Amino acid sequence: LPEQKRKPKWLRVKLPTGKKYKELRGLVDKYGLNTICASGSCPNMGECWGEGTATFMILGNVCTRSCGFCGVKTGRPETVDWDEPEKVARSIKIMGIKHAVLTSVDRDDLKDMGSIMWAETVKSVRRMNPETTMETLIPDFQGVEKHIDRIINVAPEVVSHNIETVKRLTREVRIQAKYERSLGVLKYLKQQGQRRTKSGIMLGLGETREEVIETLYDLRANDVDVVTIGQYLQPSKKHLPVKQFIMPDQFEEYKTIGLELGFRHVESSALVRSSYKAQKHIN
Ligand code: SF4
Ligand code: SF4
Repeated sequence: LPEQKRKPKWLRVKLPTGKKYKELRGLVDKYGLNTICASGSCPNMGECWGEGTATFMILGNVCTRSCGFCGVKTGRPETVDWDEPEKVARSIKIMGIKHAVLTSVDRDDLKDMGSIMWAETVKSVRRMNPETTMETLIPDFQGVEKHIDRIINVAPEVVSHNIETVKRLTREVRIQAKYERSLGVLKYLKQQGQRRTKSGIMLGLGETREEVIETLYDLRANDVDVVTIGQYLQPSKKHLPVKQFIMPDQFEEYKTIGLELGFRHVESSALVRSSYKAQKHIN
């Protein structure tokens, strides 16, 4: 492979260790609990689980969309499992999760686009785990306000929606989504009084430095509070190739710029995923 195509040493992942991690891993295996952390072999498991944070995906594991970067299967999703809110809530209880990130596949096949299940899940988690805080990493719900309202109404501490990439690459990276529509969702959340909003970008898909800064600017212009910036890694040969491995000092520069633009938190380094260090983003 040419030099820039080879994985640099800062992306080599350390195997997670630690007492809390081992304990949780044991529970997850024993009860067959479904976390994105474990199913996606996230490099940050040791750290996140050690701090009591984990990410759960709802509404099944087949998506109606086919983003070029995403490892989730595309197709016709299964019917909705109305026991899912209860199952997620119980998993969070068993694992003793202090801060839960909830996310979902996109359900463009459903009339409510999954928003009712979303709201039920947040309520169920809260009922069973009154001390646990939550971040909901939501789809764009095609920008339909009454669906977004269902999320706002159940008041998760943080609502996030990822813009994923710069404007120019949006068509290629997430074909069924729109850059402006995602910004619109973030803007609407704030207008409706959501206290903390958050978004995320992946780098290494061919974007320029200027385009990244422009994206940060656009997020801030819509009052987004927190941004995560990480390196894109290709989930399989069928996915978009990595165009570039971003150097650590470039991530640092974006962090500085982000803070100057007024974000409350900027997580920017190669292994950052949108739920990395999520617990601190409630403040
Ligand atoms: Fe789980 Fe997200 Fe942390 Fe990865 S970054 S371990 S997916 S909570
Ligand atoms: Fe993956 Fe989300 Fe795109 Fe579906 S909408 S393919 S889950 S990134």
